[in-house]
Amino acid sequence: MVCISVSSESIDFFFGLLSLGHQIDYMAKRDIHKVDSEEMNRINRRLILQQIRQKHSISRAELVKITGLAPPTVSRIVDRIVNKDRLARYVGVGNSNGGRPPVIVEFNSSEKYVLGIDLGATLIRGVLADLDAEIIMEVDLPSGKEEGYEAVIDNLVSVVNRLLSRRGIAPDSVIGLGIGVAGLLSKDKTIVHFSPDFGWTNVAFKKDLEAVISIPIFIENSTRLMALGEKGYGQGKDLDNFIVVNVGYGIAAGLVIGGQLVNGGNGFSGEFGHMTIEPDSSVICDCGRKGCLEALASGRSIGSYAREHLTKESLLNEMCHGKPARIDAKMVFEAYGANDHFAEQVCKQAIRSLSIGLTNLIHLLDPTHIFIGGGVAQNGDLFWRPLHKEVTSRMLATHKNVQISPAFFKEYATTIGSLALVLDSVLGLDLR
Ligand SMILES: [Zn+2]
Repeated sequence: MVCISVSSESIDFFFGLLSLGHQIDYMAKRDIHKVDSEEMNRINRRLILQQIRQKHSISRAELVKITGLAPPTVSRIVDRIVNKDRLARYVGVGNSNGGRPPVIVEFNSSEKYVLGIDLGATLIRGVLADLDAEIIMEVDLPSGKEEGYEAVIDNLVSVVNRLLSRRGIAPDSVIGLGIGVAGLLSKDKTIVHFSPDFGWTNVAFKKDLEAVISIPIFIENSTRLMALGEKGYGQGKDLDNFIVVNVGYGIAAGLVIGGQLVNGGNGFSGEFGHMTIEPDSSVICDCGRKGCLEALASGRSIGSYAREHLTKESLLNEMCHGKPARIDAKMVFEAYGANDHFAEQVCKQAIRSLSIGLTNLIHLLDPTHIFIGGGVAQNGDLFWRPLHKEVTSRMLATHKNVQISPAFFKEYATTIGSLALVLDSVLGLDLR
């Protein structure tokens, strides 16, 4: 048999590829001869773990059938997943129709952990979760962005340390730390090229975190993570074309097209907030340009517009106790809810700008659903009624079936996405 230079592992590997279609893409991209045994082990382990995770409980015989791998290979890899990785456990034997009863393995979601962080301009929200993305604990701290980049890194590290120490969890029990950051990331997700929210330009974010955190780190744009969270655990599970829009301190979109999260050519897709909506606007965006959606419809812009144009008659004078600096988007919506004419005009003007942007997205990408999250979207009918009306009035009749509704996880959308990012990357859940 000297003519066959591949090992039984290689043959298993090929069967694995043939039985799972998405792996064929992988084969097309790589020179198959360069795939060494370590790589094959990794891929086969990923295939098996994926099945155990998805089915939650499965027999070794079923794993052999589904993956196309040889029984000894499956046994060896399952042993490793159970005894070394502690990501599954044996739970006895199932029924058999004669012969040896099948050994059942079950996904072990509770012995290892995952950390997720939503690094927002105002708040760092950190969670500790099990491998089913069930949140066990949360720690929030102010970002401290006014004190500079190093202060934000220090606060982020402090969130991680608190999450671990309160439960006495060792870093090696954590499979990864996912971080959602508001900004434009390099394609390899190591550098924040530009973050208007934080005022950062070209910071080596991943390297600086790796110097002080010993857990594997996975970074992604925060709104893209909202989309990933919806795709993995929320309303996007069975959808192939949907958009998640965050309307909070800033505005951005996470796009899922043809079942895939869209990165863009340079990794910068989804900068919806910097779409020009009012070219003649005098309002300057944090990016330095005029007329951006974010400068017209974000929570920050609603607050600043109301402060700068406050009328004597407005209820806001009373609500802010004579201190206009206290006026923020939440207060403006409260005044709108109390029938304050000025506040209503400010909110409706912002919603009008947002509806123009959304209509452009709908016409361009033809999504079936748009999910809106972020603080501004938490204002009930005051936000949703005029928004639906405005979008409907602008949209082509052919697109009228698009559903626009709240994001599933509300203020936890990015955090859930950061958990999904780690679980996807480490356990091979294939969410992207
Ligand atoms: Zn801008």
